[in-house]
Amino acid sequence: MSPAKSVVRLEHVCKEYQLGSEAVHAVRDVSFDIEDKVFLAIAGPSGSGKSTLLNLIGCIDTPSAGRVIIDGQDVSGKTPDELAELRSRTISFIFQTFNLFPVLTAEENVEYPLLQRPDISKAERQERVKFFLNTVGLSKFAKHRPNQLSGGQRQRVAIARALSTRPRIVLADEPTANLDHKTGESILSIMRAINQAFETTFVFSTHDQRVMAMADRLVRVSDGELTAFGVKSGERWSFVRTKAAAKQEAEVQRLQEDPDLKDVLEDPVLREMVMEDVNLRRALLGDHVDNSG
Ligand code: ADP
Ligand code: MG
Repeated sequence: MSPAKSVVRLEHVCKEYQLGSEAVHAVRDVSFDIEDKVFLAIAGPSGSGKSTLLNLIGCIDTPSAGRVIIDGQDVSGKTPDELAELRSRTISFIFQTFNLFPVLTAEENVEYPLLQRPDISKAERQERVKFFLNTVGLSKFAKHRPNQLSGGQRQRVAIARALSTRPRIVLADEPTANLDHKTGESILSIMRAINQAFETTFVFSTHDQRVMAMADRLVRVSDGELTAFGVKSGERWSFVRTKAAAKQEAEVQRLQEDPDLKDVLEDPVLREMVMEDVNLRRALLGDHVDNSG
């Protein structure tokens, strides 16, 4: 990966939260690059650190250690004002729960981020609102408020809103989690089409396998660690497996060979519990993994 082509770079990023007297390691020593114009999925089970990673990339959270570099700029040294400026010009968000203003119409929701930009004229604002509502197929619903729209339509308004500032990167935290599968897939298809038409970089989190399949980059996380980084070229995925993945596989192996677990494995109920854990880990690590990597 050439650094010149990266729009985001994470270098040994860690994030710890203090929960009472206990430290929660939400992200542990994660490094990867996001190349310009990719459609990247962050996959992993609940609690694996997906939202934390997106918040770090989106500069709404700062790392406990390591560096986050956005568009060539190390964000660590920046003041809150500078970060807000970088965010408003470079990054947009799409949320699981859409986060539209209920009292505003679809077009007013899309216009909202543009009102914070004095450099954009009223005519330009109106032009963009029209253009992006049309892009997501909602021209006819411009005057509808969120409660007059379906879940899929609300998420399309949120996509139009995210695009209105013409960001380089759109971050979407489980954008399909509140939608039925078919609607979720159509939302992802719209995002993918926009990614290709406007060359906007998309980073989204999901645990839906079928949604993941639309990506051309895949970051797999488990327990705050990066376990695999996948690159799709043509129809073929190749995976770089990380030290963290190797460590977990060794753990699975150890579990299976542990003499202390012999009795456990002979008890059908306990065996099931242990194997479930092993299979779960396997599922997280194993599927997709190309051993040539
Ligand atoms: P995911 O999005 O994959 O479900 P998260 O990034 O939300 O995972 O969380 C990763 C871990 O960090 C979890 O164990 C979660 O409980 C913990 N965590 C996230 N945010 C906070 C917080 N503000 N305070 C304490 N712990 C947190
Ligand atoms: Mg989350």
